[in-house]
Amino acid sequence: MDFKLIEDDLEFKKMARDFAEKRLYPQALEFDEQGITPPELIQECAELGYFGFTAPEEYGGLGLSTTTFMGVIEELCAGCAGFGIMLSVHNSLCCEIIKLYGNDEQKQKYLPDMAAGTKIGAYCITEPNAGTDVASLSTSAVEKGDHYLLNGTKTFVTNGGFAGVLIVFVKTDPEKGHRGISCFVVDVDSEGITVGQPEKKCGIRASDTREINFSDVKVPKENLLGEPGKGFRMAVTILNSGRIGVSFQALGIAQAAMNEAIKYSKERVQFGQPICNFQAIQFKLAEMATRIDAGRLLGYRAAQLKDAGEPCHREASMSKLFCTQTANYVANEAVQIHGGYGYIKEYPVERYFRDARVTELYEGTSEAQKMVISKDLLKE
Ligand SMILES: Cc1cc2nc3c(=O)[nH]c(=O)nc-3n(C[C@H](O)[C@H](O)[C@H](O)COP(=O)(O)OP(=O)(O)OC[C@H]3O[C@@H](n4cnc5c(N)ncnc54)[C@H](O)[C@@H]3O)c2cc1C
Repeated sequence: MDFKLIEDDLEFKKMARDFAEKRLYPQALEFDEQGITPPELIQECAELGYFGFTAPEEYGGLGLSTTTFMGVIEELCAGCAGFGIMLSVHNSLCCEIIKLYGNDEQKQKYLPDMAAGTKIGAYCITEPNAGTDVASLSTSAVEKGDHYLLNGTKTFVTNGGFAGVLIVFVKTDPEKGHRGISCFVVDVDSEGITVGQPEKKCGIRASDTREINFSDVKVPKENLLGEPGKGFRMAVTILNSGRIGVSFQALGIAQAAMNEAIKYSKERVQFGQPICNFQAIQFKLAEMATRIDAGRLLGYRAAQLKDAGEPCHREASMSKLFCTQTANYVANEAVQIHGGYGYIKEYPVERYFRDARVTELYEGTSEAQKMVISKDLLKE
């Protein structure tokens, strides 16, 4: 495959880098300490069209490719990974599932507001007792005439505190295991929805993570996305987009951490010379750069397969596995190069080290990615 980025990709990447350098990076530590997703920056991103990146133009989106969008996610996450993941979840999971599985009425009802950023999406699949084992989820939707009644609890919901639209996976037929899972698009102001307090997290503290409870929530039948019983398959397909998104989030963190390490190694003098003169430091930088480039190739391969409408299940998981391991490796080595100062909040590598950690956990843990990849290998 040819991974050359086209003009559109580079232009949007540059715009995102300018935005990240001016608006995100300088305040990222403040957002982290306060644990906030700043509303004024949400508004600015809405004006740039970032909430409708891959949504079709006829619904008010920019209609751009996943490849172009991923360059943007990498740049935004280099500035502030917590802010960047908010946009990745909204576009890659929530808009994407409506774009792929919604009927005309559903697309017309939800996509224009979502693309404008006036209704932000949240993706609700994880439950307190159902994480990696998605098929064991127990939130139920019981058919009652012209509507369904939803009951259950979703946990770790990114964007939970300000989302307007929830994509909710439920059991409509509990007897059938994963074949009994269906997916609904739910308006957050529906009666019976309670949104919990923000989780106090280790990293990506500028992203909002909450528990959401559904108690006898009446959801009209027309809010069923796709066919009943097909929710598991839909979730698996959509997770490819999410996993490519997390890959580029991880690459943004890794690139930013390496840049800081290079800068610091040229400034810090020990034994009468900058520490970048020591081969031990040079080799760390060489290893970091090689892994980041390899991750980018895996990430763009997955994105371009997805854009071409080709299967990309294995490739998305390989990309997520490698890029997120790379982010953790690079951030850890960047702290090492900073010595004791790398452990102090004044230096951004401390934040990158914390932000990188979650990338190996959400949208499927590293173990879950290995399950996908090995299953695919063994079926050949
Ligand atoms: C900050 C944050 C944001 C999140 N945002 C969202 C969101 O927006 N929407 C959403 O639905 N979810 C979200 N999640 C949830 C996330 O996707 C889950 O945490 C993740 O899928 C893992 O589930 P779990 O935490 O229940 O871990 P578990 O599934 O309990 O796993 C625990 C450990 O066991 C391992 N394990 C489990 N099964 C196996 C197996 N068969 N073989 C080998 N190892 C195994 C796992 O890899 C892990 O190491 C978020 C999580 C976090 C931390």
